Amino acid sequence: MSQLPAPVSLPIITPEEVSREAAPRLPRWLKRNVPKGNSNHFTANLLEELRLETVCDNAKCPNRMECYSQKTATFMILGNVCTRPCGFCAVAKGKTQQVELDEPDRLAEASARLGLAHVVITSVTRDDLDDGGAEHFYRCVLAVRERTGAAVEVLTPDFLGKPGAIERVVASRPEVFNHNTETVPRLYREVRGRKSDYRWTLELLRRVKELDPTIKTKSGLMLGLGELRDEVLDTLADLRDVGCDLLTLGQYLQPSPEHLPVVRYLPPEEFDELGLAARRMGFAQVASGPFVRSSYHAREMAE
Ligand code: SF4
Repeated sequence: MSQLPAPVSLPIITPEEVSREAAPRLPRWLKRNVPKGNSNHFTANLLEELRLETVCDNAKCPNRMECYSQKTATFMILGNVCTRPCGFCAVAKGKTQQVELDEPDRLAEASARLGLAHVVITSVTRDDLDDGGAEHFYRCVLAVRERTGAAVEVLTPDFLGKPGAIERVVASRPEVFNHNTETVPRLYREVRGRKSDYRWTLELLRRVKELDPTIKTKSGLMLGLGELRDEVLDTLADLRDVGCDLLTLGQYLQPSPEHLPVVRYLPPEEFDELGLAARRMGFAQVASGPFVRSSYHAREMAE
């Protein structure tokens, strides 16, 4: 299994990577082969050359060929070691890496050579940095835009208690500012760890809209962790209350037996039904389905 699943996002592991022990009865709708193709080799070589990570390749995301063909990719910046202990996420925890000052330029170079039209930039949570990595996000967004003219979507950690961090990322004027809610308030601490706070997630999304109403805000939940339908609907209502525009709903998959168990695999019809309810609540765009991940159809959703 990949060592680099998704940071601050829906659990980017594929059904093929779910531990047999962890999930012995994978439902039929989650049995899907990861597509292969030449563009993967090209992308892999380029990423190696430029010492970059994408969530798409490292996690062997089942949607990646679709995303590449739509000229979308998700880059992971600020290293691959996280300072939070989220129970659903297999990103390594421990000693974080030095911020690489040339990373914004390498990211811009890769985006240009891949001909990307929509670039998603995400990171691990860096509580060890005074600004949580906000300045680095700022520099990455500017570098990509200047070099490629691509639309940029940031998928950030919560920057909990870091003065000026949200403001700094907003100042780079990304087209989309995504911060994932991940789960309902009742399960928040259990799923995201003691440091994470549901109210702060809402506050971040509210603050982004307040600072720049032209930026589309986005959030996502992974389902199947034991949340109740009404709790999901209440959470979606909270997101609409803070002006959240775009929503993703996807199935949680357990990366290993050490991670939180899947309580339930939601059938596709239930995702359809929740997606419909979300659209009725006023989300401008909703992606809801077992395979949906934070960046799924990101370009389409942002347009
Ligand atoms: S903050 Fe949580 S979800 Fe994000 S990378 Fe760290 S452990 Fe994973």
